[in-house]
Amino acid sequence: MSESTDKTDIFARELKYLSGVGNARAELLFKQIEVFTYGDMLYHFPFRYIDRTRFLSVNQITPDMPDVQLRGKIVAGRTEATGQGRKRLIFTFSDGTGHIELIFFQGLTWFRDNIKLGIEYIIFGKPSEFNGEINLVHPEIEQPQPQVENEISNTKIHGIYPSTEILRNRISNKAIVQIVRNILNLAYGKIKETLPPYLIERYKLLSLNDALLNIHFPRNQELLTMARNRLKFDELFFIQLDLLYKRAGRIEKNAGIVFDKVGEHFNAFYRDKLPFPLTGAQKRVMHEIRKDMGRGKQMNRLLQGDVGSGKTLVALMSMLIAADNSYQSCLMAPTEILANQHYNSISDFLKGLNIKLALLTGSTKKSERKKIFANLSEGQINILIGTHALIEDSVYFRNLGLVVIDEQHRFGVEQRSRLWNKSKQLPHVMVMTATPIPRTLAMTLYGDLDVSVIDELPPGRKEIKTVVFNDNKRLRLFGFMKEQIKQGRQIYVVYPLIRESEKMDYKDLEDGYESIVRAFPPPEYVTAVVHGKMKPADKDFSMNLFVRGAAHIMVATSVIEVGVNVPNATVMVIESAERFGLAQLHQLRGRVGRGAEQSYCILMAGYKLSAESRRRLQLMASTSDGFKIAEEDLQLRGPGNIDGTQQSGLPVKLRISDLSKDGHLIERIREIAREILDNDPKLEADKNHLLKKFIEINSSKNKNFSEIS
Ligand code: ADP
Ligand code: MG
Repeated sequence: MSESTDKTDIFARELKYLSGVGNARAELLFKQIEVFTYGDMLYHFPFRYIDRTRFLSVNQITPDMPDVQLRGKIVAGRTEATGQGRKRLIFTFSDGTGHIELIFFQGLTWFRDNIKLGIEYIIFGKPSEFNGEINLVHPEIEQPQPQVENEISNTKIHGIYPSTEILRNRISNKAIVQIVRNILNLAYGKIKETLPPYLIERYKLLSLNDALLNIHFPRNQELLTMARNRLKFDELFFIQLDLLYKRAGRIEKNAGIVFDKVGEHFNAFYRDKLPFPLTGAQKRVMHEIRKDMGRGKQMNRLLQGDVGSGKTLVALMSMLIAADNSYQSCLMAPTEILANQHYNSISDFLKGLNIKLALLTGSTKKSERKKIFANLSEGQINILIGTHALIEDSVYFRNLGLVVIDEQHRFGVEQRSRLWNKSKQLPHVMVMTATPIPRTLAMTLYGDLDVSVIDELPPGRKEIKTVVFNDNKRLRLFGFMKEQIKQGRQIYVVYPLIRESEKMDYKDLEDGYESIVRAFPPPEYVTAVVHGKMKPADKDFSMNLFVRGAAHIMVATSVIEVGVNVPNATVMVIESAERFGLAQLHQLRGRVGRGAEQSYCILMAGYKLSAESRRRLQLMASTSDGFKIAEEDLQLRGPGNIDGTQQSGLPVKLRISDLSKDGHLIERIREIAREILDNDPKLEADKNHLLKKFIEINSSKNKNFSEIS
């Protein structure tokens, strides 16, 4: 980000013009590590450091140490034949605490001529073990040098740079160090500051010049830490500033409908219809939503809540508030089955209230459609529920006040944004997701949205019992399934589907289906099957068999993961469970445990599991807390792999911060950015002109990636 704020600056110079680089090496650096300019190179940070300020004594060395540095004398030397006419040179090195052998296979003549017995040397290398003895093979040997204070890159903590196999063979770490040194010799002191002085002072940060110097050539550990902090600050601060600036701009630009009443519809529902008390989290979230819809600015809210946390109810109550203010609302679900389910459960909830509901999906008949379109534009429908049929052009509302989108990551940005223009005024927007996104990730991905979290399940839910099984327990599994079916329960059996090996996956599913039918023969047992290659009509037919209770077993790919609600289903069997991501397993498990009965999740795993797979499955068995699972997923797999976030992508590539580890820092920095914008929303103050410049350059560069609805 900061490296290209000004194209005329030293950062923009191409590496090929640097002495000692040239065309061939420059091309290699670009191809291998995407380093093209001086700036790119300076932002290519070491991933590890070797601290040459620390010395060990010989008697402390163990063969598993990475690198050791010793100070002492060479007390003896000899050569030995190694066969095939080759020789090796062996020095005995001592520091008074013990002896260790230094072994060389190359450059023997040079060593013999230049290394002297009895004078002090510094030895640096990786210990290894040979015939039960610890030795150092080809260590670096040098005489102690007085430190030259004013040479900027003369430090004792040495960076090791990320590289590739190909690059390492042509440009060594030492050569990269030399390139960076050459750049810093030209650039140090001339690097343009990105942060205003008052921030640097207030948060005790290094200057950018010193941060970049010390990240490559740390004077000492403390300066290295400060350099890291400063560079992380830059990286995270500018992301947050950008997000919050956009958010403020959007809020200011988009006046919102004011829902200032809570009236008859909401109250009647709350008083007479609500069959249970709201959870504390539902109350809190309702409060946040009401406040947001009442302040005259368009609401753009992400509602996160684990499976079964009662998001639909929150959506319904928000839509009733819209109705109380004489506005229409709509609820869009990603599949027809889900839309149907929402329609049915909301109809039940609202029985006897004066609210007009309608359902619009792909299979709504033409005549019915016409009627709905007319009623919508005349304002006779209060709440429209449906699939993406809602975004067709012919759908137009008289006064749409609130749009609710369920399971948001199933819809593309494009689709969602079309709901903004379905009425004269901009509606409030709420997207709901059951994919718990860890806080730090949400702050970075959706930082310009407001986020509400339902972090509490309704009371009395029975914990789903989760176990990990191997194939040798399959007979036992089938027996258990039969027992459950005898008690009137239903069962899901899910197979993984990974696009790259589609053929094989379908074979797994087909074989699985056959073996289920063999073990559960019709007509006593009815087994339905659903997968992504079926025609939508067939899929719905199969799904409905199961929803109605006419099928005992549903064999499916993960297409069933989203939202379906069959409270009578108590067993979720997941085949090859190690092939699913944690978040996906959690979603699948959420399909059971929706009724009063004890439910079970059985993770069928292969025999040979990686340590990571084993840990993931064990975690699933040990907790049902979706946020905990998501946090763990973030730690195990990194931010790029969290389900539901791939397509959103991070705004910039993080070079030094780590979303899974820098949570507190991100929160703190977000607060700092917020405070700056609270005091100076347009960044017009003199002291903020650098920040304003960044925002201007940045907004001309990227589209607003997170205007997600
Ligand atoms: P999700 O957040 O997964 O969409 P739902 O809205 O489908 O969850 O709710 C799951 C079930 O819990 C529904 O049957 C709903 O009626 C019920 N429910 C919602 N809120 C409460 C509550 N406060 N107390 C008891 N049951 C609730
Ligand atoms: Mg739901």
